[in-house]
Amino acid sequence: MVEIRGFLIDLDGTLYIGDRPVAGAKEFVTWLQDKNIPFLLLTNNSTRTPYQVRDKLQKMGIEVNPAKIYTSANALGDYIREYFPGKHGAFVIGEDGVKEELKLCGWEIVDSHLGAEFVVVGLDQHVDYRKLKEAVLAIQNGAKFIACNCDSGFPSPEGLLPGAGAIVNAITTVVGIEPVVLGKPNDCIIRYAVRRLGTELDKTAIVGDRLDTDILLGKKMGMITMLVLTGVVKSKEEISRINPDFVFKDVEDLWGNIFRLL
Ligand SMILES: [Mg+2]
Repeated sequence: MVEIRGFLIDLDGTLYIGDRPVAGAKEFVTWLQDKNIPFLLLTNNSTRTPYQVRDKLQKMGIEVNPAKIYTSANALGDYIREYFPGKHGAFVIGEDGVKEELKLCGWEIVDSHLGAEFVVVGLDQHVDYRKLKEAVLAIQNGAKFIACNCDSGFPSPEGLLPGAGAIVNAITTVVGIEPVVLGKPNDCIIRYAVRRLGTELDKTAIVGDRLDTDILLGKKMGMITMLVLTGVVKSKEEISRINPDFVFKDVEDLWGNIFRLL
């Protein structure tokens, strides 16, 4: 028996694949909400606001309160509230999730490197040369460099597309400075998410599809680790160096077995 007081649950590859929910996703999330078990749905993707993620889940028949969604843009908000409170100017390469969060923090989004104390980067599907130019000029002028995540690729039905990490690399190549990274595999997003849950790390389970991020990070932080075989890892045979505490076929399998664990 293990004592589990809360769950951090990855989205992509764990609750859904593209626009399709994974078997058991709806039942698991509904059950957690009905039982008032603390949980957050966690994603490195900073493009959407929690409300937009809620809408995406709703289209798949999964009803969830936006307050239960925690993105790397939310981690950005918690990070800057902790370390850089007050009003600051940021040049942003990113989408709604990042911009909304910065506004909630009272920051000003500036349109050029002039007046940019910070350069904040997340996945931006409209990135162009001008944005990269303003970002590198701002950093050369002393702006602090923050990235929501450094995921090199972004999975899509067409294949792997450039992720936030590809944009970060374009900037780093020029300025030779690495950003502060908030998303997985950095522990920042987990620390803030667990703080929001109000649970202890060793009594919180992290559920995810990636050994090199979800499970590695969970182990590093002393959490209970649960791998589902619906995303990156497809079979138990692929598990070698990093051993999760539990392996489930999918969240339906997890949910079906959770009663034994709780
Ligand atoms: Mg995933």
